[in-house]
Amino acid sequence: MSKKVNRLRGMYDVTPDQVWVWQKLEQIVTGILDRYGYQEIRFPVLEKTQLFHSSIGEVTDVVEKEMFSFENRKGESVSMRPEGTASTVRLALQNGLLFNDPQKLWYNCPMFRYEKPQKGRNRQFSQVGVEVFGFEGPDVDAELLLMNWHMWQELGLKNVRLELNTLGTPECRNAYREVLITHFEEHLDVLDEEAKSRLYKNPMRILDSKNPAMKPVIATAPLIQDYLSQEAKDHFSELLAILDACGLEYQVNPKLVRGLDYYSHNVFEWITDDLGAQGTICAGGRYDKLVEMQGGKPTPATGFAMGVDRLVELIVDQQLWQHESQTDVYLIRDKVIPASDAMKLAEKIRQSVPGLKMMVNMGAASFKSQFKKADKSGAKFAIILGEAEMAAGDFSVKALQDRDFGQQQLSYEQMVSILSTATQQ
Ligand code: ATP
Ligand code: MG
Repeated sequence: MSKKVNRLRGMYDVTPDQVWVWQKLEQIVTGILDRYGYQEIRFPVLEKTQLFHSSIGEVTDVVEKEMFSFENRKGESVSMRPEGTASTVRLALQNGLLFNDPQKLWYNCPMFRYEKPQKGRNRQFSQVGVEVFGFEGPDVDAELLLMNWHMWQELGLKNVRLELNTLGTPECRNAYREVLITHFEEHLDVLDEEAKSRLYKNPMRILDSKNPAMKPVIATAPLIQDYLSQEAKDHFSELLAILDACGLEYQVNPKLVRGLDYYSHNVFEWITDDLGAQGTICAGGRYDKLVEMQGGKPTPATGFAMGVDRLVELIVDQQLWQHESQTDVYLIRDKVIPASDAMKLAEKIRQSVPGLKMMVNMGAASFKSQFKKADKSGAKFAIILGEAEMAAGDFSVKALQDRDFGQQQLSYEQMVSILSTATQQ
């Protein structure tokens, strides 16, 4: 006997009992993107490894240790996308989207990172991401946050808070970098190996460390706030002013730095305490230099990515949504009626009632067993095809939930009219 093969560690399946949560969530989120005038793009799972190295940055968790990279048959290094920003910039440049027009783009697709699997952290996970090109902000940065808030409202999430910070312009970051290096040099003894290896390459990444032993040295580190130029301060305070005017609550967290290299000006995270340690459900910020770094002309850019898996987990854990039946009607037939008659009738009804969700019983077991399946399907009505009905040319319709309706003999037109109402409920 051959052995069962199970799925890879850190990967997951979505079974029919949960897929409706994914579908509803995607419908809500992408519906809002549509209403704000954002357009969908799709890019490949595989890209040249170099794309991620040059945009995400060499000294980041993602590039250093999390990529699924391998050589293709020609010996070129290719990688499964670990995030969507690099691919979006490549797509926009390669397809000439950035010549004159600004762009508001979104994607919804799986990402791949070789991480240590735990609750809320998988090796394949889905992100809905938004990337906007050609606006210097901060109005567009505010729009992204307001759109996020709108999404949480429509999803029915509670206890989500917004943390914001500014990393300033690349010049501010350079000045800050120097003082950070000096600070950490004074505490070399408490830095772990990872921090030491980052000290001169990307010291801001040390602030993002999750090592508890380094908490005190991070807590006493200088803050970017003290190294901001007037331009950077103005950009940030204008963003906060728009959020205030729109009544969106936030907390400025001066220690917030994002994991990837390309950010400047505002960065943010939406966090919930209801998911344990992996509480960030959405993160993003501005990345004005990336397009230029990827060979395009200077183009301001900003965006975010939300972790769809974590949102689904939150909705399921907190039982925020109730599953409603997807079936309107279930067709039952007496075994003396040929299957061809039932199938033909079902197709005719489907044409007469657009949008009708109808299940046809396969085979013709006893009425009792067919009714059981009809009940289990959650259908509002059963149509029963029996010998007498076929002979009389009418249809027996039984309400499975509405007691007052009971079972009625109806003409085809009457039946169609009742089923049409059922699809609208
Ligand atoms: P962390 O610091 O938690 O590793 P990150 O900086 O790597 O986060 P981003 O690259 O900004 O995360 O991704 C944006 C969002 O995508 C995260 O806030 C999270 O919701 C989700 N996400 C990231 N990595 C994973 C993962 N391995 N599994 C599930 N969701 C993830
Ligand atoms: Mg990460």
